[in-house]
Amino acid sequence: MRIRRLDIVGFKSFMDKTVIAFDDGVTGVVGPNGCGKSNVADSIRWVLGEQSARHLRGRSMEDVIFNGSESKPPLSMAEVMLTFVNDRPSELPPQYQGFGEITVGRRLFRTGESEYLVNGVQARLLDVNDIFFGSGVGRTAYSIIEQGRIGQIVSARPEDRRAIIEEAAGITKYKKRREAAERK
Ligand code: ATP
Ligand code: MG
Repeated sequence: MRIRRLDIVGFKSFMDKTVIAFDDGVTGVVGPNGCGKSNVADSIRWVLGEQSARHLRGRSMEDVIFNGSESKPPLSMAEVMLTFVNDRPSELPPQYQGFGEITVGRRLFRTGESEYLVNGVQARLLDVNDIFFGSGVGRTAYSIIEQGRIGQIVSARPEDRRAIIEEAAGITKYKKRREAAERK
């Protein structure tokens, strides 16, 4: 699964609709301090289902919605859409295997309402998780290496480091399925 593009509206510092195309070979985001690099990484983690406001460097989830600036009023909704090239259809849940691209989306309104979308259709967080288990892409996976993450990996407890390696090896999804089966 390769990221093709990221569409952001109203998320953190991205008030205007912002499209970032990840053409072949793009592996990093660089720019001056405070320009929004970490916000790009946060938006990817958020659309993949991040539930912790703190992990997104906020106090409450509402903090991801554009909060206004000197000249612009706050917005009432944040929306992020992340599009992947489906280059390994057989690894996806059957209902998504036929799509050449998969777009996952998440919206949050100041009223508290929120939703997930997969290819424009309302979905559950569970559906989004199912798409990415074992792909290395999920919200806690190693595909997004943000500031401080290398240091964290190096100094992680052995069992936490093992989880990263298991995800890379494609074992996580089988573990999750076994855990789910044992709960039933
Ligand atoms: P550095 O190089 O210092 O790590 P960065 O490029 O990673 O910087 P970010 O942390 O992504 O920068 O962006 C910080 C900016 O985002 C700040 O100016 C902050 O005010 C702005 N910001 C964060 N949340 C919101 C929000 N909800 N509404 C408006 N602006 C926001
Ligand atoms: Mg940063």
